[in-house]
Amino acid sequence: MSETESQIAANLSTVKESIRESALAAGRNPDEVTLVAVSKTRSLEEVQQALNAGQTVFGENTVQDALTKIPKLKHTAAEWHFIGHLQSKKSGHIPGNFHWIHSVDSLKLARKLSNAVSQHPGLANLNCLLQVNVLEEESKFGLHAGEVTGFLHELLSLELPGLNWRGLMTIGAQGNEYQTRQTFVALRELQQRCRSEFELENFDQLSMGMTGDYRIAIEEGATLVRVGTAIFGARDYHKR
Ligand SMILES: *Cc1c(COP(=O)(O)O)cnc(C)c1O
Repeated sequence: MSETESQIAANLSTVKESIRESALAAGRNPDEVTLVAVSKTRSLEEVQQALNAGQTVFGENTVQDALTKIPKLKHTAAEWHFIGHLQSKKSGHIPGNFHWIHSVDSLKLARKLSNAVSQHPGLANLNCLLQVNVLEEESKFGLHAGEVTGFLHELLSLELPGLNWRGLMTIGAQGNEYQTRQTFVALRELQQRCRSEFELENFDQLSMGMTGDYRIAIEEGATLVRVGTAIFGARDYHKR
């Protein structure tokens, strides 16, 4: 094992243990929380090392970066989640490469994704989350919280085969623990409201929490935590 390989393996076991502890402390079953290892900007070798250490779920935020890795790992157990902003014209790259997308925020994107999935008969449905910009920060993508039920109402009135609506995603308030917790609580309440109002039994996923705040997110109900830095180390700031 190389030095980086053992470092990634050690980091993974630290993060997994901390997920377990946070879940148990919150009275939750640790198996309800899936760790999405965010491998954006990382090399194929680093992803391979995480796979060797038993990690199978990975997140990428650009199609371009993802396609340097995903096709080469087709034969492995890797499951890929698209977590970045997606221009609808790039939707065609999602089916066949990604199993999940966390960042649906427009009807146009939803339509294009559905069309793209339909062009691959036999492919499993794409699991979709709506991205919510809870704090209404201009720098972030996503629907405002007040728009979500109206958006979902329209979405469900459309014929969009190939897509499974699974829940909500958000990004916390960087460096502000109180606000971050409020954001996660708001997302959970919104997800629960959507699930019962629209009778969507499988709308049960909450993607929230990154390296700096995944413990808080788990305390507030996260089912998917997106962790990059704590697993792979600090990213080169020239990349994203
Ligand atoms: C980069 C990124 C992450 C991971 O961030 P870390 O702080 O490195 O854990 C999570 N979610 C999204 C949407 C990201 O772009």
